[in-house]
Amino acid sequence: MSGEGDSSGGGGYNKYSCCYRIEFNCPEFVWQNGDACGACLAKGRPSKRETE
Ligand SMILES: [Zn+2]
Repeated sequence: MSGEGDSSGGGGYNKYSCCYRIEFNCPEFVWQNGDACGACLAKGRPSKRETE
């Protein structure tokens, strides 16, 4: 993988939309594609990352 040109990378910015963005109109962002944000996790919505 190669960065896409983050200027002054410092870590601290989520880049993927929460996997419940469409289903629940969630505006949060997450670190990994398919993940659920903290708010959704807290509501009992599991991440949808494809793990096997
Ligand atoms: Zn969410």
